[in-house]
Amino acid sequence: MNPDLQALLDNNRRWAAATEAREPGFFTRLAQQQSPRYMWIGCADSRVPANEITGLDPGEVFVHRNVANVVVHSDLNALSTIQFAVEHLKVKHIMVVGHYGCAGVRAALNGIRIGLADNWLRHVQDVRLRHRKRIDHLPAAEQEDILCEVNVIEQVGNVALSTVLQDAWARGQPVAVHGWVYGLKDGLLKNLQVTMDHPDKVVGVFAAALKRYPRPPAAAHDAATDAADTGFGPASL
Ligand SMILES: [Zn+2]
Repeated sequence: MNPDLQALLDNNRRWAAATEAREPGFFTRLAQQQSPRYMWIGCADSRVPANEITGLDPGEVFVHRNVANVVVHSDLNALSTIQFAVEHLKVKHIMVVGHYGCAGVRAALNGIRIGLADNWLRHVQDVRLRHRKRIDHLPAAEQEDILCEVNVIEQVGNVALSTVLQDAWARGQPVAVHGWVYGLKDGLLKNLQVTMDHPDKVVGVFAAALKRYPRPPAAAHDAATDAADTGFGPASL
């Protein structure tokens, strides 16, 4: 056995024993059923582990992760995971969680070519393009952080507009979608105040969240820009 891997297996045995000692019956109970109240949609970055950050045990948060925490309307992997979480596990909260210092967001912002992932990160580049008037005027150092936040807001909107959430809300099922960003430098989560829990709230919450990232005055009252920025059309804002 490779010693690196043996260390992981040894760690696992110690962890399982300590967990069972702290909470007898823990694994027997979990093996029968999971009933998490939360779903986490986050970046694949190894520095952003959902359970540790939120102090949750196994069985308490259902997790989907990919590069740059993107939810694409045609991504059957993400949609299937969200559907299972909402319709079978009946999670109450879905958190889309970005993080500052995201290499995927940085690559999308600066047009850095990576390889196959360029095509995936095109979705983040689209976000940047749609909101360029809120981003491009900022100092270079701020642009990346703001794109991390705006990307989360866009993905919250994508989750809310998915057939899974629309159908859940039409049934009267209580489930809310939230947007957070995690700071690698301080370990803290920031709530982006973009919670969507009803179909009628989606456009208003989305627009209010984006208004926190003002455009320079010259571009502030351009209806065409509004429409291009939000994708919801000029009548929405
Ligand atoms: Zn990342």
